[in-house]
Amino acid sequence: MTRQYDEIKCVLKHPSKLGESPVWDEQLKRLLWVDIVQGHVHEWHAESRSHVINEFPFKIGAIALADDSCLIAATDSGFIKLDLRFGTYEALCDPERHLTNNRFNDGKCDPAGRFWAGTMDEVHGHKGAGALYRLDPGNIAVEMIPNVTCSNGLAWTSDSKTMYFVDSPEQSVKAFDFDVQSGEIRNSRTVIDIPVAEGIPDGMTIDREGMLWVALWGGYKVARYDPATGKKLEELKLPVSQVTSCTFGGENLEDLYITTANTGLTDEERALQPLAGSLFVATKMRHGGRKAVRWNEEGC
Ligand code: CA
Repeated sequence: MTRQYDEIKCVLKHPSKLGESPVWDEQLKRLLWVDIVQGHVHEWHAESRSHVINEFPFKIGAIALADDSCLIAATDSGFIKLDLRFGTYEALCDPERHLTNNRFNDGKCDPAGRFWAGTMDEVHGHKGAGALYRLDPGNIAVEMIPNVTCSNGLAWTSDSKTMYFVDSPEQSVKAFDFDVQSGEIRNSRTVIDIPVAEGIPDGMTIDREGMLWVALWGGYKVARYDPATGKKLEELKLPVSQVTSCTFGGENLEDLYITTANTGLTDEERALQPLAGSLFVATKMRHGGRKAVRWNEEGC
């Protein structure tokens, strides 16, 4: 099943260079997302339809909710706690301080509230230059997957037994057995292969049936896959090519919010994609998602 882009609404026309990491804050009924390269944290308040941009002096690859108005962020200066009320921040740790070409990219909390985020070589895109980290209590970053090229989407099943992960150039989604008590992963296997013609797998989320919604960079779409069979089940077409990530939000967590980017486009392509970088939504999705897990700063 393919839903065409006339069924997908543009929520906010805004030329994000690299919009990413959407997360629904059910307490304040707002969608948060970042523009990585500009160091912006965007807020979209669904009820008042108001838009706020919080600016920080570092690149922000990903955010997750913490307590109150605080967020945990993965940046080009490591893990940083942000407070949106005051615009303040607190550096926690930077496991790749020595790797000056690297920055953090996508990240998310596991079912126990540990924040996971991975890195990439932003300058040269060198193969295997990054890694996926787990942020443990005491602000200790533990390297969980080495030799990652472009660390992207993460998702966990509702029974907490499986973790999914995208290293974009692999053109696949991998699964790992996940131990929620220890936070350990093992038994890596590829569960979804994505042909290059579909786009490059980027951010992703999981729905209440355990199916994965994967944003396809360069592919003008988000597609839903069954990780048990590797098959594509349906897709949502967008009027922009650089589709970066998605998450469920809204009152019943049945609206799929989709972030996009306007980098990597020629002037001609940009002219043909006036909504590039905007925030989109597909409402009243049959399957819906689960509440975003908040960062558990005190440990698990
Ligand atoms: Ca991404």
